Amino acid sequence: MTIRNGREILAIPGPTTIPDQVLQAMHRPAIEIYGGELRQITDSVLADLPKIFRSKGRPYIYIANGHGGWEAAISNVLSRGDKVLVLESGRFAVGWGEAGKSMGIDVEVLPGDWQSAVDPAKVEARLRADAKGEIKAVLVVQIDTASSCVNDIPAIRVAMDAAGHGALLMVDAIASLATMPFEMDAWGIDVALTGSQKGLMTPPGLALLCVNGKAFDAHEKADLSTAYWDWTRRDGNEHYQKYAGTPPSHMLFGLRKSLDMILEEGLENIFRRHALLAGAVQAAVGRWREGGVFDFNVPEPAARSVSVTTVRMKDGIDPAPLLKFCQEHCGVTVGIGIGNLAGKAFRIAHMGHINAPMTMGTLGALEITMRALALPHGAGGVQAAAEYLGNALKV
Ligand SMILES: *Cc1c(COP(=O)(O)O)cnc(C)c1O
Repeated sequence: MTIRNGREILAIPGPTTIPDQVLQAMHRPAIEIYGGELRQITDSVLADLPKIFRSKGRPYIYIANGHGGWEAAISNVLSRGDKVLVLESGRFAVGWGEAGKSMGIDVEVLPGDWQSAVDPAKVEARLRADAKGEIKAVLVVQIDTASSCVNDIPAIRVAMDAAGHGALLMVDAIASLATMPFEMDAWGIDVALTGSQKGLMTPPGLALLCVNGKAFDAHEKADLSTAYWDWTRRDGNEHYQKYAGTPPSHMLFGLRKSLDMILEEGLENIFRRHALLAGAVQAAVGRWREGGVFDFNVPEPAARSVSVTTVRMKDGIDPAPLLKFCQEHCGVTVGIGIGNLAGKAFRIAHMGHINAPMTMGTLGALEITMRALALPHGAGGVQAAAEYLGNALKV
């Protein structure tokens, strides 16, 4: 295994690296669940989550992955036959819409090309055409983890307002929360959701929602609600009601620690760290692309996300050998392409518990791999990344 032994680096866009502090916080015996310390942890997590969403809305914690969070959001505010508008910018909003369809929702997709962000003007035009107000909700992701596009959520809000449309704005921030600015209240978001395993640096297993007032009005009429997802039942005061059953105690120990780490570092510092490391990755890809094999999936720099970079391969060149070599010989796992980009791209994650040596190590391992496999690439990707960071941090 040549140069592999040593600390492995996981650079896939979720689950992300779990900090040792979070793992240690989870390494403890089970405790009772009816009150006491666990109840305090629940209350403190519920108090802190809105700070991360930047909202005065109400948070909910589900034992679920992101797909569960999607169902939680849909079932609480919509009724069978309701129409939603899904804004495509890659795999994930479309997947959310597919979940809705299976639940009896009428789903319309505003098509996107997987290489650019949602165009707010198209959203405005579609909503203007909906004079009868048939569209009950707009579903969008902030960062699409397949294409690595970032959508301009405040601009989408402005477009909805310009159209004078009353649909709910529902945002999947699974790959973006705690990596880039997210202003639930200032941006007029009605339902926001994330998962524990991306920017929140905790194992997969919790879906976290934050809900604003207008969504509660819709909730009163929603007929898709079921016992497990139902917000009203979860508003009950008993500890078991918050989870519709046994609390996920060890996940809560971990999440409590990760929230402590996030609040201690400060969201602004976290956003800057992500922006810097994304800039380093983009600097490297900018060099590699000169060889004609590798390129950005998202041509427009402003539409590239800070948490993941999708690197598109020249047509006909499979990224699988590169990923395999990088993992087997260098101990670095980068993400495969998914959806329309399966077999055509790979993804470098720079999300969550991530710092300069992890990112530079990932880029270096990829460059070693490109050379070992004789994949044409512009030289000096790692150097460009180092120059970018060195210049950005110049004292
Ligand atoms: C990871 C991800 C999901 C899916 O989350 P799971 O935990 O895999 O169900 C949904 N949306 C986005 C934007 C994601 O990055």
